[in-house]
Amino acid sequence: MKSINILILLLVCFSSMAQQPILINVDPLSNPDTFFVKLEVPQKLSKKNNVFQFPATAPGTYQTMNIGRLVSDFQAYDKKGKRLKTTFSAPNQYIIAKPKKLKSLHYKVAETFDTQLKDLPIYMMAGSSIERENVLVNAHTLSGYFSGMQKTPVGIRVNGKSDWKTGSALKVKDGYFIAENFDELVDSPIMSGKLSFAETTLAGAPIQIYTFSENGKVNSEMLLKEMTQMLNSAEKFLVKLPVDHYTFLFYFVENPSGVTGAWEHSYSSEYVIEEGEPTPAFLKQVIDIASHEFFHVITPLNIHSEIIESFNFEKPTASQHLWLYEGVTEWASHIQLFRGGVTNLDQYIANGLKQKIIVSELYFKPEWSLKKIADESFNGGEGAKQYGNIYYKGSLTASYLDIRLLELSGGTFGLREVLLDLIKKYGKGNPFSEETFFDDLAKMTFPEIKDFANKYILKSEDLPHEEYLAKIGLKYNRVAKNKVEITPIENPSNSQKMLFEAWSKNMEVK
Ligand SMILES: [Zn+2]
Repeated sequence: MKSINILILLLVCFSSMAQQPILINVDPLSNPDTFFVKLEVPQKLSKKNNVFQFPATAPGTYQTMNIGRLVSDFQAYDKKGKRLKTTFSAPNQYIIAKPKKLKSLHYKVAETFDTQLKDLPIYMMAGSSIERENVLVNAHTLSGYFSGMQKTPVGIRVNGKSDWKTGSALKVKDGYFIAENFDELVDSPIMSGKLSFAETTLAGAPIQIYTFSENGKVNSEMLLKEMTQMLNSAEKFLVKLPVDHYTFLFYFVENPSGVTGAWEHSYSSEYVIEEGEPTPAFLKQVIDIASHEFFHVITPLNIHSEIIESFNFEKPTASQHLWLYEGVTEWASHIQLFRGGVTNLDQYIANGLKQKIIVSELYFKPEWSLKKIADESFNGGEGAKQYGNIYYKGSLTASYLDIRLLELSGGTFGLREVLLDLIKKYGKGNPFSEETFFDDLAKMTFPEIKDFANKYILKSEDLPHEEYLAKIGLKYNRVAKNKVEITPIENPSNSQKMLFEAWSKNMEVK
């Protein structure tokens, strides 16, 4: 991506009132491709607030980012404007020698789109950008927090041109998007600039779409039109939406400078995608990604372990249940389109099964279990290379878990019903146990599920394609290394017919 000379001024003010928000001002009209941050601290900090922590990672990214690498000219001042001593503690902390005297911080942060990082490159959708006509703010790339102050409320304002639109899931108060704490700020990307906008409602919840398209090829109206069926089918699958509003932020770039994709949040999702002609195939691809991201409102955003609940920005900590957060989400995003009638059986088999099998086998190491992929996700190197298999092997494993559950329950209690029950049982503020989840899941369902998890999630036994697909009356045929055929069995047994019915039409409210 081109480097563009626009100055960003971030002004951060701490209020002396405990519940008054920290205020961040972003001024994209003043200068270069670096965020200039000014942080005002009106109240007295204590000794325990002496560390200013930049994030090492952010929830849902499963990558180590070490934002401290992008920070320069870090300066601390007292109320008379006298410089205070600070010490950089690699990779992400600045220690303030006399925090009680601290009045303000000034520092610069390089925008990620224009910064080439050889080690641990940052995905574009988890980065930030400042262009002449738009700004993308993912707050973890611009800001940190004082030790002990992760829970302090924070407000952020983007001061763009008068004809700019600004999109975020956060609510506005006195001109600022207000987040309850640093976690919510990071959970709420902001996009501002010459954006197109479209809106609808889903089960009474406003759904907003903001789109930036570098050459104006894609707009919010066409995305909404394409997305409507997916959203309606998602609502049916979920019975009740777990959100009361939702915002899609799309950023289409002509020449991506890094890995593109999408990032899920509690009330929004943000997409950085290479701009293409808005053909039906191109739009379908975008909607497939949106279906996946939207389903993250279930997991990990609602159903997660204690590791995700109290997020550690300082030290990346892996949860072994990545299979649930990403694998099950990927499965749900495909199966809901099929069960909702948006795609047919052939399309589901092609995208939800065959492609998953081929890609998983050709591009990833079979001996890496889903647990190992989770454990190694933050480690770069081989961990980063194998991570992508969570969307293939993880999704297939979810497919077979669903079939196993339907089999054990006589077609009444599949993975969808398990998810609906998990939403009731857990949720934000009520995490499941990282250690005992498989036991708890077996108790909620069937003892056999413990064995399934052991074989295909904790260990890495070969997935039983033929055996499991046969249960629902589908014949698996390995034609070549890169070709698989999956077709309906000609004379299915009664039990195969029954399970196929349950599997393919399982959208009733139970
Ligand atoms: Zn995902």
